[in-house]
Amino acid sequence: MLFQNTLEFAKNLDADDALRKYRDAFHFPKVDGKQVIYFTGNSLGLQPKSSQVFVNEIMTDWKELAVEGHFHSKKPWWDYHERLAAPLSKVVGAKMNEVSVMNTLTVNLHFLMVSFYRPTDKRYKIICEEKAFPSDQYMFQSQVKFHGFEPSDAIVEIKKRDGENYWRTEDIVKKIEEIGDELALVLIGGVNYYSGQVFDMETITAAGKAAGAFVGWDLAHAAGNIELKLHDWNVDFAAWCSYKYMNSGPGNASGVFVNERHLNNKKIPRFEGWWGTKKETRFLMKPEFEPIDTADAWQISNPPVLSLAPYLASLEMFEEVGMDALIAKRNKIVAYLEFVLKSIDEEVEQSTFEIITPEDRGCQLSVFLHGQGRPIFDYLMKRGVITDWREPNVIRLAPAPFYCSYEDMYRFGQILKEGILANQ
Ligand SMILES: *Cc1c(COP(=O)(O)O)cnc(C)c1O
Repeated sequence: MLFQNTLEFAKNLDADDALRKYRDAFHFPKVDGKQVIYFTGNSLGLQPKSSQVFVNEIMTDWKELAVEGHFHSKKPWWDYHERLAAPLSKVVGAKMNEVSVMNTLTVNLHFLMVSFYRPTDKRYKIICEEKAFPSDQYMFQSQVKFHGFEPSDAIVEIKKRDGENYWRTEDIVKKIEEIGDELALVLIGGVNYYSGQVFDMETITAAGKAAGAFVGWDLAHAAGNIELKLHDWNVDFAAWCSYKYMNSGPGNASGVFVNERHLNNKKIPRFEGWWGTKKETRFLMKPEFEPIDTADAWQISNPPVLSLAPYLASLEMFEEVGMDALIAKRNKIVAYLEFVLKSIDEEVEQSTFEIITPEDRGCQLSVFLHGQGRPIFDYLMKRGVITDWREPNVIRLAPAPFYCSYEDMYRFGQILKEGILANQ
């Protein structure tokens, strides 16, 4: 499609947008009384209006039923999490028995590493990407040390080539083959948080499995953003947070995926608690742990129902819309944003920025601003464009397809241009 950087053209794209009604289903913050242009759905998704209703329902049941709410509220609390499994499994391309919701993301990755990182003297290395999200780096270091190994020896970071902004699949595969039978685990962010690069999870997973390692993915920036086929790709495990593209609210619960082939496998150990044991016999309070035969076996505590309520509200929207429709709009709106950025770059005299996100991308464009980065970022904020800043000079723009409009992209371009001209 040939785009134009005009208000009229953007409005026409909005008029044709199959998802346009969902914009109204979210609360937008305001700056100077005007609804913001929100580019940080990759950091904290906007609040669906329905989530308040779901939370209020729990508050009311708690008020009126107290402990009886566990079994007798409209949506009983004791198995509330099960309501999330069906819609969530579609978002990540899993079977229903392979997903569960519990804890928070880094906590879940640690628990999953209890199961899937069990180093031996010979096979103890972890492959991850260079400059992984800091929480993941701390997790790797602490896990490796916990097992008595040296991070500098046990953690192998895949680097980008000199002068390139992205990781090449072939370099990752080559490193996996090189480490070979010393490799215990491959664990990478499926979509890089900084550049927005989408990794070839299928190829990398296959390479890791061929080397005899376990392969897991941190899907913080992938879940609800890109097409995932965790089951078909033969991934061992994965986890993601729900507050980014999945709009569930700040710090909210994380989802996990455990491949069907590991369920009921007694050779896979885990840390256990009472919510992982079979429901039928849980309240007999017996000493024997009888694992649920789904990923719920990894649950430890009873579910944080007040957190799961807005997550469920959001998942009902994903269920209604479907990932295919979200991805179709995402592709188009990101392409339009890219077009607007390039048009603005041509209109201002000096080239001021560069998109560092590679072709393999989801919703996010990361833009490297030359020179005047910080003042431009501040100018955008002041004008009601919410982006985020990453050192040394990058703003990240994620036009979430659920609620961003093409008109937002056009208006952003005009504000950016004014900001660049004001700072030249
Ligand atoms: C956002 C993000 C996290 C956040 O972890 P929490 O445990 O939810 O605080 C972890 N990893 C990556 C790659 C992220 O992008």
